[in-house]
Amino acid sequence: MTTNKKMGLTTQDAQALQEQYGKNELTAGKKQSFFIKTLHIIAEPMFLLLIVAAIIYFVLGEPRDGAVMLIFVIGIISIDVIQEWKTDKTLNALKELSAPHVTVIRDGEELMIASVDLVPGDTMIIAEGVKIPADGEIIKANDLCVDESSLTGEAEGVWKVTVDNAEESDDYWRRDYCYAGTLVTQGNAHVLVDKIGALTEYGKIGTSVASAEEKPTPLQKQTGSLVKLCAGIAAVLCALVGVITYFNIPEHVFKDRIIESILSGITLAMAMIPEEFPVILTVFLSMGAWRLAKKNSLVRKLPSVETLGAVSVLCVDKTGTITMNQMTVTDIWARNSDEDELCEMMGLGCETEAYDPMEKAMVRYCEKCGFSKEHLFGGELITEYAFTNELKMMGHVWHHDGEIIVAAKGSPERMLTICILTDQERLEVNDKIAEMSKKGLRVIAVGVMKPQTEAEIPKTITQAKLRLLGLIGLADPPREAVKEDIKNCTRAGVRVVMITGDNGITASSIAKQIGIPNCDHIITGDELNLMSDEVLQEKVKNVSIFSRVVPEHKMRIVKAFKANGEVVAMTGDGVNDAPALKTADIGIAMGKRGSEVSREAADLILMDDNFSTIVSTIEDGRRIYDNIRKAVGYVFTIHIPIAFSCLFAPLLGVSTTNLFLLPLHVVILELIIDPTCSIVLERQPAEHDIMDRKPRNPNESIIPGKTLAKSVIQGLVIFGTSFGTYFMFLGQGNTPLARTMGLVIIMLANLVLVQVNSSNQDFVFQSMKRLIKDKVMWAINIGTIGGILVILYTPLSAFLKLYPLTIEQFFMAAGIAILSVIWYEAVKLVCWLRKKRNN
Ligand code: ADP
Ligand code: MG
Repeated sequence: MTTNKKMGLTTQDAQALQEQYGKNELTAGKKQSFFIKTLHIIAEPMFLLLIVAAIIYFVLGEPRDGAVMLIFVIGIISIDVIQEWKTDKTLNALKELSAPHVTVIRDGEELMIASVDLVPGDTMIIAEGVKIPADGEIIKANDLCVDESSLTGEAEGVWKVTVDNAEESDDYWRRDYCYAGTLVTQGNAHVLVDKIGALTEYGKIGTSVASAEEKPTPLQKQTGSLVKLCAGIAAVLCALVGVITYFNIPEHVFKDRIIESILSGITLAMAMIPEEFPVILTVFLSMGAWRLAKKNSLVRKLPSVETLGAVSVLCVDKTGTITMNQMTVTDIWARNSDEDELCEMMGLGCETEAYDPMEKAMVRYCEKCGFSKEHLFGGELITEYAFTNELKMMGHVWHHDGEIIVAAKGSPERMLTICILTDQERLEVNDKIAEMSKKGLRVIAVGVMKPQTEAEIPKTITQAKLRLLGLIGLADPPREAVKEDIKNCTRAGVRVVMITGDNGITASSIAKQIGIPNCDHIITGDELNLMSDEVLQEKVKNVSIFSRVVPEHKMRIVKAFKANGEVVAMTGDGVNDAPALKTADIGIAMGKRGSEVSREAADLILMDDNFSTIVSTIEDGRRIYDNIRKAVGYVFTIHIPIAFSCLFAPLLGVSTTNLFLLPLHVVILELIIDPTCSIVLERQPAEHDIMDRKPRNPNESIIPGKTLAKSVIQGLVIFGTSFGTYFMFLGQGNTPLARTMGLVIIMLANLVLVQVNSSNQDFVFQSMKRLIKDKVMWAINIGTIGGILVILYTPLSAFLKLYPLTIEQFFMAAGIAILSVIWYEAVKLVCWLRKKRNN
């Protein structure tokens, strides 16, 4: 295959090649068929109960009831299938957004494509931090170093060369070739893709590439056991009700008695199983993730959405997250007042193609002082000392204007160790460094050495003996909103911890500017090295700044916080940040400047690299958790009148034909409960005080005692009013009328309940005012009322064993329904008054 290396493939070629070779993936994504999914839903205990009930109707010789029942069952199944389909779609869209991408050259232009769309013949551009997506030959390379340990087990990075420069070798692993699944740790290159998908070396060994099975989240586990508990109680009560029913109808023949008892038992079981819980969780979490994605924060793992609300410590990188990462040279101090020399050497010490914002700023400054790039980088580059996080300095050796020049720059502490200075001079320089750092500037020292011959060029930068030229001060102003955000975090009980490679004084000055509390306590990377884990664990309780750290330290910092029981969120962008990101409860990668590897390790990707987005994401996490809690409470509440009615009617000796709720009616209620909570409560905006509370205790139960008590009392009141009304009307001898009154009360109470419980503090008129513009709310309310009218006033009512109420009766039911829920507003009022008095 011939491809023009400069132009890359054309779009048509790429399409044709994709048809020929398929997608660049190891296993084609399997899709669960629609049929299987529906089967899964039907296999839920709830539906089995429903189906059994329908069958019993047929056996009882009441096919009409059986048929109506089946129709409703189909209704519920459709709702579930639609919901599942929607969450699936949402989750897939999210996955696609966070899927790996790669830069390729197509039609002569650089283009970002999803890595799965890579085809053999593509020219891909890889750079530091990229996980290589396919095998290919290196056609152009710059300092390319690749970590191939995932394939070869060899921890040492491999320095790569281009195909043209490759020496003959019979090693299996080629130096002029890149392999899928390996990491670029330094440099960049153009690679001509040769093999994709399962044909790559990585594909051949087939390392556990099948995506990990999704584990249930802590919430899912909690609700799972809650559902089991309810099901257990339901089973016991179901048997009890069955037995009671059996004795309630001694006049029936034996077979009928048995069937009737089974039926009433099943009705109770149906009313008691809170099968909405798992649905609520998936819907709320995935919708939450979707809403977050629209606000620039991409959730990679669904459980993170629930953890977010519990975050108590937020560790952030200073550069780029807290600051704008827009550096400018603002101060310059030349030791022998030769600013020109200082400036020129600083330029010579920069990368020829600067991508670091700091170096860009330096080169810009040089240009301003009259040193063009052509002048600076026109000579011959003899060798270079690469920057590493440990050294914190770097240098270049040039043939420049007929001289050999070693130009180096880096953090002053390190540079001073390789500069020749008297003690007196050293003191002077240190004073100057402190003075500049206090202004919040990043200080860089520049030094030079001019060897006579190439043989005298130092092998490593640490062996150099330099003449210190001076200091450069660079400003990187904090982002505008950061101050406000930190205030919000402090109020919300979330500690902000700043982590930086910069010097402590600079860091503390920036921290002061943005209002991080405790900004005088600093731990440096060197101190960290000497500290035991226990001491560190004690120290992190009031230290919020870590300076001169390397990415490897982050891991220890995270662990120390976690050992104190904190829930830690941590940002990271580099390749070396990946382990810390994985260890943190919430690893946050940068979408813009982050490396592919860090994104893969993260739970959350910040599309705009902005600190403010993290804070609003935490707020959203709290809102989502709040809403889940409200929904769970609501489901509890609304199940109580239904379950108790099914339990009490037989207990009170009501005969089987006069029962309050027949299976049909339970189904109708289920039909409105599910959508109401998963749609209405999911949309609830955050409570006003959501960022005034302390972070939630991660071990707290989803439905704490207070909420449970509230739900139970609310449920009991609704039960009292609806069942009481039914029982009263039953005395008049008209069962369908009695039943309809009770049922309408529950259905309308349900509507009011959602409004009342949508906020713990706002009064119902306030929430209604907020939601009045929301079309979905209208749809739900009008839908429920329309539904009631249809089942009451159309021929359907006879089928459903209901009775068309008169206007007066209808309004009576409505009045009772409203009263049975609205009383809770008085509780809110009391709380409000009490709070006001306390303030
Ligand atoms: P941060 O964590 O704040 O982004 P870095 O790890 O990027 O900090 O840098 C740490 C220190 O290393 C800087 O304060 C600076 O002294 C030095 N440094 C960083 N980049 C360069 C560079 N390109 N040349 C020389 N020194 C550098
Ligand atoms: Mg940096």
